[in-house]
Amino acid sequence: MPRRSPDARPRRRPSTTGVLTCLVLTVMAAVYGFDWLAARQGGAVPWSIGDLVPAAARDHPQRGFEETGGRLAPVVTVATPGTSYAFQHTRTQDGREAPVAWSPCRPIHVVVATAGAPADFPAQVTAALAEVSAATGLTFVEDGPATEPVSLDRAAFQPDRYGDRWAPVLVGFADAATVPDLAGSVAGIAQVQMAEEPFTRDAHLVTGTVYLDTELLAPAPGRTGLEYLPVLRHELGHVVGLDHVDDPTQLMHPTTGVPTFQAGDLTGLAELGRGGCAPGL
Ligand SMILES: [Zn+2]
Repeated sequence: MPRRSPDARPRRRPSTTGVLTCLVLTVMAAVYGFDWLAARQGGAVPWSIGDLVPAAARDHPQRGFEETGGRLAPVVTVATPGTSYAFQHTRTQDGREAPVAWSPCRPIHVVVATAGAPADFPAQVTAALAEVSAATGLTFVEDGPATEPVSLDRAAFQPDRYGDRWAPVLVGFADAATVPDLAGSVAGIAQVQMAEEPFTRDAHLVTGTVYLDTELLAPAPGRTGLEYLPVLRHELGHVVGLDHVDDPTQLMHPTTGVPTFQAGDLTGLAELGRGGCAPGL
């Protein structure tokens, strides 16, 4: 069963100066493929018994969907690295600790829920994803407006809605009536789900959600309408694997007023883009 990580914690209500708040929820979806017999060969999965089972009868999608066997974009080098960054989850890779990250060898699909959102929200999501892509070397593909209701109890694999692949990242606005964790002081929530490759047990991020609080961030008298942009960037930082830092000069500080990714954030994002391919997921 998915579980929430103990780092889920509410933050103070944002002030009019743009103090950032968010709640991080991490859902771990451990997927052990007893039906998986394919060898890891050059990043490709040539054959899998699991693929012969109808998607509706599985708890995971076909292995290696859209994996290309190599990076889709070059690794990112930070000209002026910082040290203030942290990862939500790490794993042991080649004898050292490495962050749990997305495969850079397949696109990360994203859908945008527009209900209750500012009119420019889809365009701003596109711009923010471009920033994260440039900082990580990960590739995002937008699949258009979401048809899925916002929810914290979101399945990582929804074959009836999205086909035989991991559900895309869902980005949208929500209120506390729909997502109770947004009540009170919480301006945004990021949630990621990860899965482990069979045999190698390599963990990778496979889907996620970003919900921005309608009450605190949607257009309203006295707001510029753009207060949500730093929160959106911050939550997307969580979606690709960053955790909070105690340094208020960084965007990943839980209550900072910094509007954009800073040196530490960018260094962590670049590292998160250096994960391995995930042909078994
Ligand atoms: Zn946060």
